[in-house]
Amino acid sequence: MSAVSPLAVPPDSLFGVRNLPYGVFSTADDPRRRLGVAYGDHVLDAGRAAEATGAPTDLAAVLSAPGLGPLLAAGRPAWTRVRAALTEWLTAERYRAAVEPCLVPRSRTVPHLPFDVADYVDFYASEHHASNVGRIFRPGAEPLTPNWKHLPIGYHGRAGTVVVSGTPVVRPSGQRKAPADPAPDFGPSRRLDIEAEVGFVVGTPSPLGARVALADADAHVFGVCLVNDWSARDLQAWEYVPLGPFLGKSFATSVSPWVVPMDALAHARTDPPARGAEPLPYLDDRAAEPPYGLDLALEVRLNGHLVSRPPFSTMYWTYAQMLAHMTVNGASLRTGDLYASGTVSGPAPDTRGSLIELTWNGEEPLTLPDGTTRSFLEDGDEVTISATAPSLDGTRISLGEVTGRIEPAR
Ligand code: MN
Repeated sequence: MSAVSPLAVPPDSLFGVRNLPYGVFSTADDPRRRLGVAYGDHVLDAGRAAEATGAPTDLAAVLSAPGLGPLLAAGRPAWTRVRAALTEWLTAERYRAAVEPCLVPRSRTVPHLPFDVADYVDFYASEHHASNVGRIFRPGAEPLTPNWKHLPIGYHGRAGTVVVSGTPVVRPSGQRKAPADPAPDFGPSRRLDIEAEVGFVVGTPSPLGARVALADADAHVFGVCLVNDWSARDLQAWEYVPLGPFLGKSFATSVSPWVVPMDALAHARTDPPARGAEPLPYLDDRAAEPPYGLDLALEVRLNGHLVSRPPFSTMYWTYAQMLAHMTVNGASLRTGDLYASGTVSGPAPDTRGSLIELTWNGEEPLTLPDGTTRSFLEDGDEVTISATAPSLDGTRISLGEVTGRIEPAR
């Protein structure tokens, strides 16, 4: 027996009892995929804990699954019961002997994609990001397109290439054509970029033909993860007119291994910034209580060096507005749908969530501590996005991190 119990986690820990994010893990000696809950420096084997504590059959069934899917599909009343049960197992003295053997050191776990991604949508909800991109690509013109403040712009992405944090990202190849080039050529992207984003995971589905109102968002959205929407800017620039992002984005999208439930983010709720246009009624959240803005503090590191601190609280469109817009035409939701916010960029230069903004399209390269400079990513570069959120009494919880290393083109 170790001297300190793995259950001795201070309540103000980044992965303490106020967080309890869900993921899927295996270990070297047991390759089965199991549902886990991060707690301190450990992962609770949730299915094993349900068995050891004699949990009700329905809770034991969702926690013993090899992925988050059954819990996502079980709906908000079940999410609340499971969270209450986990809290009790991890904190009540009477469960200590049963639960202690169910904790695995986090360093010994291998993370897997926490849920099967059904449909993947990516938005463009940061006014600062959209304005920066507009200034870079349309200098002298109005930075925002005429529709931008009337609807959350988005596109349908490729669910099958969403990968868990730590998965290597192979530099994509494709058609490249700079404006001055007479014709496109083919080869590895020379302008590989990141987009620091927050993703929302849908649990409860909705029927075809029905809309999800703003006030119903929390009945459908289970939780949040971090997203890196890797982007090949040269491929994207040549292909995107008139139908939007395609191969410049679809080669890989990385997500963090831990899905933080919305229930853990009650203290992160904040009013979104003032908007510059009158919203149509289905997007009008000015009376929303609690508000749908989220005060998440992101950090972006390139080869370990902090390059940006994007503030999610500055996002113009909220997760509830994105969901309301995504379903206003009657499109249905499926369990496992993932929709991401779009690049999170704040007003200050060191709060921008992509390299194209941080280096202003390569005109102002970043200098790293080793003396090298970057306009875009080089082979071998590693990017890590992490985040924390406010919790009770001034403490914070962690959303973990999403990381990926660039491998040479094949
Ligand atoms: Mn994006």
